[in-house]
Amino acid sequence: MRYQRSSQLFKAASAVIPGGVNSPVRAFKAVGGTPVFVTKAKGAYLYDADGNRLIDYINSWGPMILGHAYPPVIEAVIEKAQLGTSFGMPTEIETKIAELAVSMVPNIDQIRFVNSGTEACMSAVRLARGFTGKEKIIKFAGCYHGHSDSFLIQAGSGAVTFGSPNSPGVTEGTAKDTLLAPYNDLVAVAEIFEANPSQIASIIVEPVAGNMGCIPPQSGFLEGLRALCDAHQAILIFDEVMTGFRLARGGVQELYGVNADIVCFGKVIGGGLPVGAFAARHEIMAHLAPLGPVYQAGTLSGNPLAMAAGYAMLQALESDAEVFERLAQKTAYLHEGISKTLKAHQVLHTINRVGSMISVHFSESPVVDFETAAEGNNERFKTFFHGLLNAGIYIAPSAFETWFITDALTYEDLDETIAAVAKIAPSL
Ligand SMILES: *Cc1c(COP(=O)(O)O)cnc(C)c1O
Repeated sequence: MRYQRSSQLFKAASAVIPGGVNSPVRAFKAVGGTPVFVTKAKGAYLYDADGNRLIDYINSWGPMILGHAYPPVIEAVIEKAQLGTSFGMPTEIETKIAELAVSMVPNIDQIRFVNSGTEACMSAVRLARGFTGKEKIIKFAGCYHGHSDSFLIQAGSGAVTFGSPNSPGVTEGTAKDTLLAPYNDLVAVAEIFEANPSQIASIIVEPVAGNMGCIPPQSGFLEGLRALCDAHQAILIFDEVMTGFRLARGGVQELYGVNADIVCFGKVIGGGLPVGAFAARHEIMAHLAPLGPVYQAGTLSGNPLAMAAGYAMLQALESDAEVFERLAQKTAYLHEGISKTLKAHQVLHTINRVGSMISVHFSESPVVDFETAAEGNNERFKTFFHGLLNAGIYIAPSAFETWFITDALTYEDLDETIAAVAKIAPSL
């Protein structure tokens, strides 16, 4: 495959856009080379500026769970656009998607729409603080909740410690209110509660982690977080921006049978348009403006095009009883195929998978948290990534990312992917 035109476009972009991209995860910093510029996509395939067809395992980082340019979503957007694209006034479609979302997800009565997952998580934390009157939050190393200041925090030194900023521009003042624990480590969470009596407003967690590869919660982890929040009058926030409407109709709350207090959404809920949302029971949502004192707003929130796309997407998922099972089966097939192939070539690896989320780690030990995810061999990943790209298969350009399986993928596509892995394996 050739990427000449993409290289030219990247050069032009780099002159006027920092790093040539509008989100750093699109850059090829971790793998080398220049990003692929897309011209269009349909179903399971991307078509790039050089005319290559690529099998897509990113799917816009999750939203395109039924494939690109999914006809009911496209039709809904076109129809709405002809009626005007934004009013800054209420529209009926907002109620329709809200009713549908609330009916699909357990344990929520009301939902507020925003424009991104970042906004959803940022607002959820503000609501949790406003509701509890407490200021500190607990987050887990390697979990991503968007780029708002409170979340750009890394663990300091010592067992139970304040966080420290992991980006310039985040203040020490903000960092001291975010406390870090390793994922899947309930003991660490309990210690943080003990060390900060009556100060923890909330735990925010990816209930199935997807931003350090795919890392499932170990047995009892989510239940333990629920129990700790109950014992300490803290709010449990499930950040389901990635998992919501992907792992089950009702997300991880349904899949693992654990209730959160506030749930955040993004990605699938917008059907490929910029949408985020956060949801909770009445008693919590009553604290949100204009009902209550916790402020939150947005000029384009509930935008009619975005709501129409999201509504069409949720309707499609709601009306297809088998979709999540079908996705899980395709993902399991890919898992087995890749695993067998790598084993046959004695390539040390660990593959994690939950539903339609899967990640390949070039390390031997189980990947259960950020530390173990970081043990993967990045040189091997680079070879793997570029080998797949040359074979017309696009995975995320970082070893810390989940692959998103779409229902548009056929078993032929999966076989083509496994065959490509077989070709690369000897050089890994
Ligand atoms: C993608 C993601 C976000 C951020 O969403 P944006 O729409 O990119 O702002 C937050 N949390 C999780 C779990 C995500 O995967």
